[in-house]
Amino acid sequence: MTAVIDEKKQEVINKINYLRKKKNAVILAHYYQRGEIQDIADVVGDSLELARRAQETDADIIVFAGVKFMAETAKILNPDKKVLHPNPESGCPMADMATVEGVLKLKEEHPDAVVVSYINTNADVKTVSDVIVTSRNAVNVIRKLEAKKIIFVPDQFLGSYVARQIPEKEFILWKGFCPPHFNLTPDQLLALKEKYPDAKIAVHPECNTETVKIADFVGSTSQIIEFATTCEAKNVIIGTEVGLKHWLEKVNPDKNYIFPVNADYCGTVHCCDMKKNTLEKIADVLENETNEIILPEDIIQKAKRPLDVMLSIV
Ligand code: SF4
Repeated sequence: MTAVIDEKKQEVINKINYLRKKKNAVILAHYYQRGEIQDIADVVGDSLELARRAQETDADIIVFAGVKFMAETAKILNPDKKVLHPNPESGCPMADMATVEGVLKLKEEHPDAVVVSYINTNADVKTVSDVIVTSRNAVNVIRKLEAKKIIFVPDQFLGSYVARQIPEKEFILWKGFCPPHFNLTPDQLLALKEKYPDAKIAVHPECNTETVKIADFVGSTSQIIEFATTCEAKNVIIGTEVGLKHWLEKVNPDKNYIFPVNADYCGTVHCCDMKKNTLEKIADVLENETNEIILPEDIIQKAKRPLDVMLSIV
């Protein structure tokens, strides 16, 4: 039975390889994608790496295996390319928590503030933002801004983490959150620590504040990769999306990466939206060139400005 499934999967992979070559396409995949997608991708990375690669590529087609705002960002940075999203239903619940009307209202209430939006926002919200940041560069970028008052959208936990690093600035936080990271409690990590007393705990700043406080290391996905694969501890407890396990085991298989969830469970640190892309859907969009990201010209231009500010700082 397994052999039959593997054979079928290999057929899909062969089709993807044939089509990407024929159509000069590149496949970009986020670290939270299924392992089998990471394995066939041309580039695997976090939001910032993928945004940069989308901007640099000379491919004619970009297939973006991530959630919708990521594929939109690739289109905004590279509007002449055809950007295909394998599954349009793969969105980000946290990005959907922020609205243009709400951001404009906050701007009106705080005219002296700068709107800093996490890259995890939909294109329309980017158009009313002054600067975009990722979890890797948020502290660095915001520290360099002249403004003393920051409206941070949409992740209240990343925002409050950044605010603790930059106490000289005032932060107004949008009350959004990432459900998979928010659900991770300190108790879940401490229970694992009891089982592996010598382990280090590394978490993403999208986790809630109480969880962040008990971690040995707090960082973006790529910073967690660097920490987990190079720190002295053999056992590392990881508080971020479970798709990262596949990549960590590839980079340094000699270590034990302990995640608080079973990979089949939709909930704590398992983003079901990220898992809506499949190899079959990638083959399908490559073959039929469907699910193209189409954005109005004015949205592309306005949303690009705050992205360019970020890319000029980092
Ligand atoms: S992990 Fe969280 S922030 Fe990332 S796509 Fe899923 S819901 Fe959105």
